Amino acid sequence: MANEEMRMFGYVCPKCGKAVLAARSVFALEASNAEVECDCGESALRVENLDGQKFRLTVPCGICGGTHTAECEPERLLHGPGLGFGCPETKQICCYAGNRERVEPAVRELEILCQKYRQEEEPEAFLDSVIMYEVLSELKEIASRPDGIICGCGSSRYGIEVRHAAVDLVCRDCGAKLRIPAATDEDLDQLCCHYKLVIPGKKQ
Ligand SMILES: [Zn+2]
Ligand SMILES: [Zn+2]
Ligand SMILES: [Zn+2]
Repeated sequence: MANEEMRMFGYVCPKCGKAVLAARSVFALEASNAEVECDCGESALRVENLDGQKFRLTVPCGICGGTHTAECEPERLLHGPGLGFGCPETKQICCYAGNRERVEPAVRELEILCQKYRQEEEPEAFLDSVIMYEVLSELKEIASRPDGIICGCGSSRYGIEVRHAAVDLVCRDCGAKLRIPAATDEDLDQLCCHYKLVIPGKKQ
């Protein structure tokens, strides 16, 4: 066959975060199973041909880091524009199969999306982890006092958001925020002066 029909497969490697793209011929896919491996050697997409009735894909998921399986009709996998397979954890598409023109840009976009997910997972390092630790323990101490941390709106329900060089106390009722710097010894001294903390929320 001079112009053999090819199908493109693409996913994002959960280990190294790179887009993995490879084409397989329809002829080969009809005849046997296929595997598309990442260059890093740590993950591989498996395409199993179940007696020509169905295809089962085993997809390493670059979004949640898990492995998902999905089945589909041979017709949809081998012909037409193609299809995407979703990650059940995040409801995002984590694998594409089909025409090169559609799969390649989709997987490039997926690669960027996965990078964002990864960044969210790895919290940025603290500017000074000793100070951060001390500030958090002091906050715990203050919070243990009766009405130790309250909001100006009258609420005593708040959340703690730990940042690079600060801790935010956020009122769960009005959303007001009190930023506690957590970078230097002075920041710690400042905090220790407070017997109580009031988040600057307004009275309703
Ligand atoms: Zn890889
Ligand atoms: Zn997933
Ligand atoms: Zn409030």
